[in-house]
Amino acid sequence: MTSTTTRLAADVWPSGLTETADGALSLHGHPLGELATSYGTPAYLVDVPDLLARARSFRDEFRAAFEAIGTTCDVFYAGKAFLATPLAKLLDAEGLSLDVCTRGELAVAAKAGFPGARVGVHGNNKSAAEIDAAIDYGVGRIVVDSLEEIERVLTAARSHGVRVPVMLRVKTGVEAHTHEFIATAHEDQKFGFSLSGGQAAEAAAEVLEHPDELQLLGFHSHIGSQIFDSDGFRVAAQRLIAMQLQIAQEHGVVLPELDLGGGFGIAYLPEDEPLAPKDMATQLAAIVRAACEEAQTPVPRVSIEPGRAIVGPAGITLYEVGTVKPVQATDELTRTYISVDGGMSDNPRPALYEADYTATLANRPGSAQTAQSRVVGKHCESGDIVVRNQQLPQDVRPGDLLAVAATGAYCRALSSQYNHVPRPPVLAVDEDGVRTWLRRETIDDLLSLEGE
Ligand SMILES: *Cc1c(COP(=O)(O)O)cnc(C)c1O
Repeated sequence: MTSTTTRLAADVWPSGLTETADGALSLHGHPLGELATSYGTPAYLVDVPDLLARARSFRDEFRAAFEAIGTTCDVFYAGKAFLATPLAKLLDAEGLSLDVCTRGELAVAAKAGFPGARVGVHGNNKSAAEIDAAIDYGVGRIVVDSLEEIERVLTAARSHGVRVPVMLRVKTGVEAHTHEFIATAHEDQKFGFSLSGGQAAEAAAEVLEHPDELQLLGFHSHIGSQIFDSDGFRVAAQRLIAMQLQIAQEHGVVLPELDLGGGFGIAYLPEDEPLAPKDMATQLAAIVRAACEEAQTPVPRVSIEPGRAIVGPAGITLYEVGTVKPVQATDELTRTYISVDGGMSDNPRPALYEADYTATLANRPGSAQTAQSRVVGKHCESGDIVVRNQQLPQDVRPGDLLAVAATGAYCRALSSQYNHVPRPPVLAVDEDGVRTWLRRETIDDLLSLEGE
Protein backbone atom coordinates (compact mmCIF):
# COMPACT_ATOMS: atom_id res chain seq x y z
CA MET A 1 0.00 0.00 0.00
CA THR A 2 1.36 3.41 -0.83
CA SER A 3 0.30 6.45 1.05
CA THR A 4 -1.13 8.14 -2.02
CA THR A 5 -3.88 5.55 -2.55
CA THR A 6 -5.51 6.59 0.72
CA ARG A 7 -4.11 10.10 0.76
CA LEU A 8 -7.45 11.86 0.80
CA ALA A 9 -9.90 9.08 1.55
CA ALA A 10 -13.40 10.47 1.27
CA ASP A 11 -15.18 10.72 4.65
CA VAL A 12 -11.91 11.18 6.54
CA TRP A 13 -10.80 14.48 4.99
CA PRO A 14 -12.92 17.62 4.56
CA SER A 15 -14.44 18.07 1.11
CA GLY A 16 -12.57 21.33 0.40
CA LEU A 17 -9.15 19.67 0.71
CA THR A 18 -7.64 18.83 -2.66
CA GLU A 19 -4.37 17.67 -4.10
CA THR A 20 -2.80 20.19 -6.50
CA ALA A 21 -0.83 19.35 -9.64
CA ASP A 22 2.46 19.39 -7.72
CA GLY A 23 1.10 16.89 -5.18
CA ALA A 24 0.74 19.37 -2.33
CA LEU A 25 -2.54 19.91 -0.50
CA SER A 26 -4.76 22.93 -0.73
CA LEU A 27 -7.87 23.91 1.24
CA HIS A 28 -10.38 25.80 -0.91
CA GLY A 29 -7.53 27.01 -3.09
CA HIS A 30 -5.23 27.98 -0.21
CA PRO A 31 -2.07 25.83 -0.32
CA LEU A 32 -1.42 24.42 3.15
CA GLY A 33 2.24 25.43 2.78
CA GLU A 34 1.19 29.06 2.37
CA LEU A 35 -1.15 28.85 5.35
CA ALA A 36 1.73 27.46 7.42
CA THR A 37 4.00 30.31 6.33
CA SER A 38 1.39 32.99 7.04
CA TYR A 39 -0.09 31.65 10.28
CA GLY A 40 2.54 29.30 11.69
CA THR A 41 2.18 25.75 12.91
CA PRO A 42 0.61 23.95 14.56
CA ALA A 43 -2.74 25.30 13.44
CA TYR A 44 -6.26 23.97 13.44
CA LEU A 45 -7.93 24.58 10.08
CA VAL A 46 -11.71 24.48 9.64
CA ASP A 47 -13.27 23.85 6.23
CA VAL A 48 -16.24 26.16 6.69
CA PRO A 49 -18.35 25.00 3.70
CA ASP A 50 -17.81 21.39 4.82
CA LEU A 51 -18.90 22.25 8.36
CA LEU A 52 -21.97 24.12 7.11
CA ALA A 53 -22.94 21.24 4.84
CA ARG A 54 -22.85 18.87 7.83
CA ALA A 55 -24.87 21.23 10.02
CA ARG A 56 -27.48 21.69 7.26
CA SER A 57 -27.62 18.01 6.59
CA PHE A 58 -28.46 17.23 10.24
CA ARG A 59 -30.96 20.09 10.36
CA ASP A 60 -32.75 19.22 7.13
CA GLU A 61 -32.63 15.42 7.21
CA PHE A 62 -33.83 15.15 10.80
CA ARG A 63 -36.57 17.72 10.27
CA ALA A 64 -37.79 15.93 7.13
CA ALA A 65 -37.68 12.45 8.70
CA PHE A 66 -39.58 13.56 11.80
CA GLU A 67 -42.08 15.67 9.84
CA ALA A 68 -42.87 12.48 7.97
CA ILE A 69 -44.05 10.95 11.28
CA GLY A 70 -46.09 14.00 12.25
CA THR A 71 -43.67 15.88 14.47
CA THR A 72 -40.39 17.73 14.07
CA CYS A 73 -36.80 17.50 15.26
CA ASP A 74 -34.56 20.25 16.61
CA VAL A 75 -30.80 19.96 16.28
CA PHE A 76 -28.87 21.22 19.31
CA TYR A 77 -25.20 21.51 18.42
CA ALA A 78 -23.20 20.23 21.43
CA GLY A 79 -20.92 23.17 22.11
CA LYS A 80 -18.53 21.11 24.18
CA ALA A 81 -17.14 19.54 20.96
CA PHE A 82 -15.78 22.94 19.90
CA LEU A 83 -17.12 26.38 20.64
CA ALA A 84 -16.07 29.81 19.41
CA THR A 85 -18.10 32.97 18.88
CA PRO A 86 -17.91 32.97 15.05
CA LEU A 87 -19.05 29.34 14.94
CA ALA A 88 -21.97 30.08 17.26
CA LYS A 89 -22.97 32.96 14.95
CA LEU A 90 -22.86 30.70 11.90
CA LEU A 91 -24.95 28.00 13.55
CA ASP A 92 -27.45 30.58 14.75
CA ALA A 93 -27.80 31.89 11.21
CA GLU A 94 -28.49 28.31 10.08
CA GLY A 95 -31.27 28.00 12.64
CA LEU A 96 -29.61 25.35 14.79
CA SER A 97 -29.94 25.30 18.56
CA LEU A 98 -27.00 25.17 20.95
CA ASP A 99 -26.14 23.08 24.01
CA VAL A 100 -23.86 24.61 26.63
CA CYS A 101 -22.85 23.09 29.94
CA THR A 102 -20.96 25.78 31.86
CA ARG A 103 -21.08 29.49 32.45
CA GLY A 104 -18.07 29.84 30.16
CA GLU A 105 -19.85 28.17 27.27
CA LEU A 106 -22.94 30.28 27.96
CA ALA A 107 -20.73 33.39 27.83
CA VAL A 108 -19.64 32.45 24.30
CA ALA A 109 -23.28 31.96 23.28
CA ALA A 110 -24.03 35.41 24.73
CA LYS A 111 -21.07 36.98 22.95
CA ALA A 112 -22.40 35.54 19.70
CA GLY A 113 -25.88 36.88 20.49
CA PHE A 114 -27.27 33.35 20.27
CA PRO A 115 -31.02 33.54 21.03
CA GLY A 116 -31.67 32.24 24.54
CA ALA A 117 -34.78 30.38 23.46
CA ARG A 118 -32.57 28.08 21.35
CA VAL A 119 -30.00 27.41 24.08
CA GLY A 120 -30.09 24.26 26.23
CA VAL A 121 -28.07 23.90 29.41
CA HIS A 122 -26.48 20.64 30.51
CA GLY A 123 -24.22 19.49 33.30
CA ASN A 124 -24.37 17.25 36.33
CA ASN A 125 -23.23 19.93 38.77
CA LYS A 126 -24.49 23.33 37.70
CA SER A 127 -23.91 25.93 40.37
CA ALA A 128 -26.64 28.24 41.61
CA ALA A 129 -24.76 31.06 39.83
CA GLU A 130 -24.78 29.09 36.56
CA ILE A 131 -28.49 28.39 36.87
CA ASP A 132 -29.12 32.08 37.60
CA ALA A 133 -27.10 33.13 34.56
CA ALA A 134 -28.97 30.64 32.36
CA ILE A 135 -32.39 31.84 33.53
CA ASP A 136 -31.27 35.44 33.16
CA TYR A 137 -30.30 34.65 29.58
CA GLY A 138 -33.75 33.13 28.98
CA VAL A 139 -32.54 29.69 27.94
CA GLY A 140 -35.08 27.40 26.31
CA ARG A 141 -34.36 24.45 28.57
CA ILE A 142 -32.31 23.34 31.51
CA VAL A 143 -31.56 19.62 31.50
CA VAL A 144 -31.77 18.77 35.19
CA ASP A 145 -29.51 16.04 36.53
CA SER A 146 -30.18 15.72 40.29
CA LEU A 147 -32.76 16.32 43.01
CA GLU A 148 -30.60 19.12 44.44
CA GLU A 149 -30.72 20.79 41.08
CA ILE A 150 -34.51 20.68 40.96
CA GLU A 151 -34.42 22.68 44.20
CA ARG A 152 -31.84 25.11 42.78
CA VAL A 153 -33.85 25.73 39.62
CA LEU A 154 -37.01 26.13 41.67
CA THR A 155 -35.37 28.74 43.88
CA ALA A 156 -33.98 30.60 40.87
CA ALA A 157 -37.34 30.47 39.07
CA ARG A 158 -39.00 32.05 42.11
CA SER A 159 -36.43 34.79 42.45
CA HIS A 160 -36.67 35.63 38.72
CA GLY A 161 -40.45 35.30 38.73
CA VAL A 162 -40.42 33.06 35.66
CA ARG A 163 -41.48 29.53 34.72
CA VAL A 164 -38.42 27.55 33.64
CA PRO A 165 -38.65 24.80 31.00
CA VAL A 166 -36.75 21.71 32.16
CA MET A 167 -35.95 18.25 30.92
CA LEU A 168 -34.82 15.38 33.11
CA ARG A 169 -31.61 13.59 32.20
CA VAL A 170 -32.29 9.87 32.46
CA LYS A 171 -29.96 6.92 32.80
CA THR A 172 -31.61 4.47 30.42
CA GLY A 173 -29.18 1.63 31.09
CA VAL A 174 -28.06 1.77 27.45
CA GLU A 175 -24.42 2.40 26.68
CA ALA A 176 -23.39 2.64 23.05
CA HIS A 177 -20.01 2.83 21.41
CA THR A 178 -19.28 2.42 17.69
CA HIS A 179 -20.76 -0.96 16.66
CA GLU A 180 -21.81 -2.31 20.02
CA PHE A 181 -24.27 -1.27 22.62
CA ILE A 182 -25.11 -2.69 26.01
CA ALA A 183 -28.77 -2.61 26.95
CA THR A 184 -28.01 -3.16 30.63
CA ALA A 185 -25.03 -0.90 31.10
CA HIS A 186 -23.95 -0.56 34.69
CA GLU A 187 -25.59 2.32 36.49
CA ASP A 188 -22.31 3.28 38.09
CA GLN A 189 -21.77 6.65 36.40
CA LYS A 190 -22.57 10.19 37.39
CA PHE A 191 -25.15 11.38 34.85
CA GLY A 192 -28.89 11.32 35.17
CA PHE A 193 -31.73 9.80 37.15
CA SER A 194 -31.95 6.03 37.08
CA LEU A 195 -34.99 4.61 35.26
CA SER A 196 -34.78 1.17 36.79
CA GLY A 197 -34.31 2.47 40.34
CA GLY A 198 -37.43 4.66 40.10
CA GLN A 199 -35.44 7.88 40.50
CA ALA A 200 -36.64 9.27 37.18
CA ALA A 201 -40.29 8.85 38.20
CA GLU A 202 -39.56 10.46 41.55
CA ALA A 203 -37.80 13.42 39.91
CA ALA A 204 -40.66 13.88 37.44
CA ALA A 205 -43.19 13.87 40.31
CA GLU A 206 -41.11 16.47 42.12
CA VAL A 207 -40.97 18.77 39.07
CA LEU A 208 -44.69 18.32 38.38
CA GLU A 209 -45.48 19.44 41.93
CA HIS A 210 -44.32 22.95 41.01
CA PRO A 211 -46.20 23.82 37.82
CA ASP A 212 -45.98 27.58 38.43
CA GLU A 213 -42.19 27.56 38.49
CA LEU A 214 -41.20 24.53 36.41
CA GLN A 215 -42.45 23.28 33.07
CA LEU A 216 -41.52 19.63 32.49
CA LEU A 217 -40.79 19.27 28.76
CA GLY A 218 -39.77 15.63 28.87
CA PHE A 219 -36.92 13.19 29.26
CA HIS A 220 -33.40 13.32 27.91
CA SER A 221 -30.83 10.61 27.34
CA HIS A 222 -27.35 10.54 25.82
CA ILE A 223 -26.11 7.00 25.35
CA GLY A 224 -22.51 7.37 24.23
CA SER A 225 -20.18 8.55 21.50
CA GLN A 226 -18.84 7.41 18.14
CA ILE A 227 -22.09 5.48 17.51
CA PHE A 228 -22.29 3.89 14.06
CA ASP A 229 -25.83 2.46 14.05
CA SER A 230 -29.24 3.06 15.60
CA ASP A 231 -29.64 -0.09 17.76
CA GLY A 232 -28.71 1.60 21.04
CA PHE A 233 -31.03 4.51 20.29
CA ARG A 234 -33.90 2.05 19.76
CA VAL A 235 -33.65 0.60 23.24
CA ALA A 236 -33.13 4.02 24.84
CA ALA A 237 -36.10 5.56 22.98
CA GLN A 238 -38.37 2.64 23.91
CA ARG A 239 -37.50 3.04 27.59
CA LEU A 240 -37.97 6.82 27.55
CA ILE A 241 -41.31 6.57 25.78
CA ALA A 242 -42.48 3.88 28.22
CA MET A 243 -41.57 6.33 30.98
CA GLN A 244 -43.58 9.08 29.28
CA LEU A 245 -46.56 6.75 29.22
CA GLN A 246 -46.13 6.06 32.93
CA ILE A 247 -46.12 9.82 33.64
CA ALA A 248 -49.27 10.27 31.56
CA GLN A 249 -51.00 7.49 33.50
CA GLU A 250 -49.87 8.60 36.95
CA HIS A 251 -50.11 12.38 36.57
CA GLY A 252 -52.38 12.90 33.58
CA VAL A 253 -49.66 14.96 31.89
CA VAL A 254 -48.52 14.33 28.33
CA LEU A 255 -44.88 15.37 28.08
CA PRO A 256 -44.37 17.24 24.80
CA GLU A 257 -40.67 16.60 24.11
CA LEU A 258 -38.01 13.90 23.95
CA ASP A 259 -34.25 14.32 23.57
CA LEU A 260 -32.18 11.43 22.25
CA GLY A 261 -28.77 13.07 22.78
CA GLY A 262 -25.77 13.00 20.48
CA GLY A 263 -22.90 10.63 19.83
CA PHE A 264 -23.22 10.19 16.07
CA GLY A 265 -19.97 8.66 14.82
CA ILE A 266 -17.48 9.98 12.27
CA ALA A 267 -14.65 8.45 10.22
CA TYR A 268 -11.23 8.91 11.79
CA LEU A 269 -9.77 6.11 9.65
CA PRO A 270 -10.55 5.21 6.03
CA GLU A 271 -12.22 1.96 7.16
CA ASP A 272 -14.70 3.71 9.51
CA GLU A 273 -18.22 3.79 8.05
CA PRO A 274 -20.57 6.05 9.97
CA LEU A 275 -24.24 6.26 9.02
CA ALA A 276 -25.13 9.27 6.88
CA PRO A 277 -27.35 11.79 8.73
CA LYS A 278 -30.21 10.96 6.35
CA ASP A 279 -30.09 7.26 7.23
CA MET A 280 -29.71 7.92 10.94
CA ALA A 281 -32.65 10.37 10.75
CA THR A 282 -34.91 7.89 8.95
CA GLN A 283 -34.05 5.11 11.36
CA LEU A 284 -34.54 7.23 14.48
CA ALA A 285 -37.87 8.54 13.22
CA ALA A 286 -39.06 4.98 12.56
CA ILE A 287 -37.91 3.95 16.03
CA VAL A 288 -39.77 6.82 17.73
CA ARG A 289 -42.93 6.21 15.72
CA ALA A 290 -42.95 2.48 16.49
CA ALA A 291 -42.30 3.05 20.20
CA CYS A 292 -45.10 5.64 20.43
CA GLU A 293 -47.50 3.36 18.56
CA GLU A 294 -46.75 0.53 20.92
CA ALA A 295 -47.17 2.73 23.99
CA GLN A 296 -50.19 4.44 22.38
CA THR A 297 -48.81 7.86 23.26
CA PRO A 298 -48.68 10.90 20.98
CA VAL A 299 -45.37 11.41 19.13
CA PRO A 300 -43.38 14.09 20.99
CA ARG A 301 -41.25 16.84 19.50
CA VAL A 302 -37.79 15.30 19.29
CA SER A 303 -34.33 16.81 19.66
CA ILE A 304 -30.85 15.48 19.03
CA GLU A 305 -27.44 16.84 20.06
CA PRO A 306 -24.67 16.14 17.56
CA GLY A 307 -21.29 17.68 18.34
CA ARG A 308 -18.52 15.61 16.81
CA ALA A 309 -20.48 14.78 13.64
CA ILE A 310 -20.87 18.47 12.75
CA VAL A 311 -17.39 19.87 13.47
CA GLY A 312 -15.12 16.82 13.66
CA PRO A 313 -14.61 15.92 10.00
CA ALA A 314 -14.50 19.60 8.96
CA GLY A 315 -11.30 20.21 10.93
CA ILE A 316 -7.69 19.24 10.32
CA THR A 317 -4.51 20.05 12.21
CA LEU A 318 -1.42 21.22 10.37
CA TYR A 319 1.97 20.45 11.96
CA GLU A 320 5.59 20.87 10.96
CA VAL A 321 7.92 17.91 11.24
CA GLY A 322 10.92 18.52 13.51
CA THR A 323 12.74 15.19 13.79
CA VAL A 324 12.55 11.78 12.12
CA LYS A 325 14.00 8.83 14.03
CA PRO A 326 14.06 5.13 13.13
CA VAL A 327 13.31 3.01 16.19
CA GLN A 328 13.79 -0.77 16.44
CA ALA A 329 10.28 -1.44 17.82
CA THR A 330 10.64 -5.25 17.85
CA ASP A 331 13.10 -7.72 16.31
CA GLU A 332 11.14 -7.57 13.07
CA LEU A 333 9.81 -4.02 13.07
CA THR A 334 11.56 -0.74 12.60
CA ARG A 335 9.19 2.12 13.22
CA THR A 336 9.81 5.66 12.08
CA TYR A 337 9.05 8.17 14.82
CA ILE A 338 8.08 11.49 13.27
CA SER A 339 8.02 14.32 15.83
CA VAL A 340 5.79 17.31 15.14
CA ASP A 341 5.60 20.74 16.79
CA GLY A 342 2.42 20.03 18.81
CA GLY A 343 0.99 16.85 20.29
CA MET A 344 -1.02 15.94 23.35
CA SER A 345 -1.54 19.60 24.26
CA ASP A 346 -3.53 20.24 21.06
CA ASN A 347 -4.95 16.72 20.78
CA PRO A 348 -5.10 14.70 23.99
CA ARG A 349 -7.48 12.06 22.58
CA PRO A 350 -4.85 9.46 21.64
CA ALA A 351 -3.38 9.71 25.15
CA LEU A 352 -6.80 9.79 26.84
CA TYR A 353 -8.73 7.23 24.80
CA GLU A 354 -6.16 5.57 22.56
CA ALA A 355 -7.98 7.32 19.74
CA ASP A 356 -6.73 6.67 16.20
CA TYR A 357 -6.12 9.33 13.58
CA THR A 358 -5.04 9.56 9.95
CA ALA A 359 -2.18 11.78 8.76
CA THR A 360 -0.82 12.75 5.38
CA LEU A 361 2.13 14.68 4.05
CA ALA A 362 0.76 18.10 3.14
CA ASN A 363 3.47 20.03 1.28
CA ARG A 364 4.42 17.41 -1.34
CA PRO A 365 3.36 13.90 -2.32
CA GLY A 366 6.39 12.15 -0.80
CA SER A 367 7.99 8.94 -1.97
CA ALA A 368 5.87 6.03 -3.11
CA GLN A 369 7.88 3.85 -0.75
CA THR A 370 6.30 3.98 2.68
CA ALA A 371 7.48 3.20 6.19
CA GLN A 372 5.64 2.03 9.28
CA SER A 373 5.41 5.34 11.10
CA ARG A 374 4.25 6.86 14.37
CA VAL A 375 3.59 10.58 14.59
CA VAL A 376 4.44 11.91 18.04
CA GLY A 377 4.40 15.32 19.70
CA LYS A 378 6.95 17.46 21.50
CA HIS A 379 5.78 16.88 25.07
CA CYS A 380 7.67 15.22 27.88
CA GLU A 381 5.67 11.98 27.89
CA SER A 382 6.12 8.81 25.88
CA GLY A 383 2.30 8.61 25.58
CA ASP A 384 2.38 11.85 23.59
CA ILE A 385 1.17 10.24 20.36
CA VAL A 386 -0.66 11.94 17.48
CA VAL A 387 -1.02 9.00 15.07
CA ARG A 388 -0.17 5.62 16.55
CA ASN A 389 0.34 3.56 13.48
CA GLN A 390 0.35 4.45 9.79
CA GLN A 391 2.27 3.90 6.59
CA LEU A 392 3.73 7.27 5.59
CA PRO A 393 6.19 8.14 2.81
CA GLN A 394 9.66 6.90 3.65
CA ASP A 395 11.26 10.25 2.85
CA VAL A 396 9.36 12.40 5.38
CA ARG A 397 11.94 14.85 6.72
CA PRO A 398 12.30 17.84 9.03
CA GLY A 399 10.52 20.88 7.61
CA ASP A 400 7.76 18.84 5.97
CA LEU A 401 4.15 19.58 6.85
CA LEU A 402 1.81 16.90 8.13
CA ALA A 403 -1.96 17.24 8.16
CA VAL A 404 -4.02 15.17 10.60
CA ALA A 405 -7.65 14.50 9.72
CA ALA A 406 -10.88 14.83 11.71
CA THR A 407 -9.53 17.05 14.48
CA GLY A 408 -12.42 19.54 14.46
CA ALA A 409 -14.08 18.09 17.57
CA TYR A 410 -12.63 17.56 21.05
CA CYS A 411 -9.15 18.78 20.11
CA ARG A 412 -9.14 22.55 20.66
CA ALA A 413 -11.91 21.95 23.19
CA LEU A 414 -9.77 19.54 25.23
CA SER A 415 -6.46 21.29 24.58
CA SER A 416 -4.11 22.42 27.32
CA GLN A 417 -0.95 24.46 27.69
CA TYR A 418 0.96 21.42 28.95
CA ASN A 419 4.69 22.15 29.07
CA HIS A 420 3.75 25.82 28.62
CA VAL A 421 3.06 25.28 24.94
CA PRO A 422 0.67 28.05 23.79
CA ARG A 423 -2.44 26.72 22.08
CA PRO A 424 -2.71 26.86 18.27
CA PRO A 425 -5.12 29.15 16.45
CA VAL A 426 -8.35 28.01 14.82
CA LEU A 427 -8.43 29.30 11.25
CA ALA A 428 -11.67 29.21 9.29
CA VAL A 429 -11.07 28.68 5.59
CA ASP A 430 -13.30 29.01 2.54
CA GLU A 431 -12.89 30.22 -1.03
CA ASP A 432 -13.00 33.85 0.04
CA GLY A 433 -10.13 33.59 2.48
CA VAL A 434 -9.02 32.77 5.98
CA ARG A 435 -10.56 34.15 9.15
CA THR A 436 -9.20 33.70 12.64
CA TRP A 437 -11.86 32.08 14.80
CA LEU A 438 -9.45 31.83 17.71
CA ARG A 439 -6.02 33.43 17.63
CA ARG A 440 -2.85 31.64 18.61
CA GLU A 441 -1.99 31.93 22.29
CA THR A 442 1.29 33.63 23.05
CA ILE A 443 3.88 33.12 25.74
CA ASP A 444 2.71 36.51 27.05
CA ASP A 445 -0.82 35.10 27.41
CA LEU A 446 0.61 32.38 29.60
CA LEU A 447 2.79 34.76 31.60
CA SER A 448 -0.16 37.10 32.17
CA LEU A 449 -1.52 34.62 34.71
CA GLU A 450 1.64 34.52 36.79
CA GLY A 451 2.14 36.19 40.15
CA GLU A 452 5.32 38.05 40.98
C1 LIG B 1 -21.12 15.01 24.70
C2 LIG B 1 -22.55 15.17 24.58
C3 LIG B 1 -23.12 15.35 23.33
C4 LIG B 1 -22.35 15.38 22.04
O1 LIG B 1 -21.70 14.17 21.78
P1 LIG B 1 -21.01 13.97 20.33
O2 LIG B 1 -20.37 12.63 20.46
O3 LIG B 1 -20.03 15.07 20.16
O4 LIG B 1 -22.10 14.01 19.33
C5 LIG B 1 -24.50 15.53 23.26
N1 LIG B 1 -25.25 15.54 24.39
C6 LIG B 1 -24.71 15.38 25.61
C7 LIG B 1 -25.60 15.41 26.78
C8 LIG B 1 -23.36 15.19 25.75
O5 LIG B 1 -22.85 15.02 26.97
